[in-house]
Amino acid sequence: MYRVTIDRDACDGVFACLTRDPRFVEDSDGIATLDPDADPAPPDGSDDGAIERTAETVIGAFDDERVQDAEAAADACPFDAITVEDVEGSR
Ligand code: SF4
Repeated sequence: MYRVTIDRDACDGVFACLTRDPRFVEDSDGIATLDPDADPAPPDGSDDGAIERTAETVIGAFDDERVQDAEAAADACPFDAITVEDVEGSR
């Protein structure tokens, strides 16, 4: 399992992340959020995940093969607003 965190304060709506991982979408504030249903072609075995939203962060926990997509989104973010981490002991 891996956890994807968006720091909403750090995000400035550049949306480089969206083109790397379709689970990233723009929210009504013009900031990135996570919507697993937004992926038009989710691979077999993809996980809808568990999404938690607060004023400061959006956190998604997923257990599938798309960790590289999330890491590519994190690498593309010019503000380092995205963090991807393995969740201990689950893989
Ligand atoms: S690339 Fe980073 S700053 Fe841009 S929308 Fe995505 S999370 Fe926000």
